Amino acid sequence: MKLFPVILLVSVLSSCAASKNPLRREVKLLERGLIKDDTSYIYDLPFENGKAYYCVQGYFSMFTHHERAALDFRMKPGSIICAAREGVVVRVKEDGTRGGMRSKYRKDGNNVVIEHPDGSRAGYWHLQTDGALVNVGDTVKRGQPIALSGNTGMTSFPHLHFIVWDYDRSRRWQQVPTRFETTRGVGYLTAIKRYRKPKAEQPVHPDSHHPIPEE
Ligand SMILES: [Zn+2]
Repeated sequence: MKLFPVILLVSVLSSCAASKNPLRREVKLLERGLIKDDTSYIYDLPFENGKAYYCVQGYFSMFTHHERAALDFRMKPGSIICAAREGVVVRVKEDGTRGGMRSKYRKDGNNVVIEHPDGSRAGYWHLQTDGALVNVGDTVKRGQPIALSGNTGMTSFPHLHFIVWDYDRSRRWQQVPTRFETTRGVGYLTAIKRYRKPKAEQPVHPDSHHPIPEE
């Protein structure tokens, strides 16, 4: 009976497929539009008006976001990153010069962190060396250019890693999935899709449904 290898294979596959993070289930429901009374803040896409980029990893993707509520946008180095929400800059690192897939590069990841008026924070990662356009203490507007994208830190290709944290009930930082305004409406982004930020004057569907169709 060759059952054992089958069981082993199934358990390995299922442990890969399903993140243990309890947020995952909620995120999947949000992505499918099954949670209707969503009143969460609607973020700007973290780049310039009218531009479109691929979201190559979504929330709890298989690759390096297995346990993370974060998004990766594939971007050529030097692309302009804009604040997805207004706030105050609380952290800037821009002296990292190295990047690669090994964990030893993690500390080299240049980043900007912005604290929002409700106390939540957004992090923008893998920025170009000396690529920050803001300083700690600066007040930034939603949509304001804050950095140039790059490939520093633990990364396998040039991209922007975008993440939002908030305090949970026990006052611990928790990664949170966020909704975005795109040319196709408002919703949670999913992987391997391209999303365009509306031009400033372009009205967004006021009553759009999830999930956002692919561009
Ligand atoms: Zn990432």
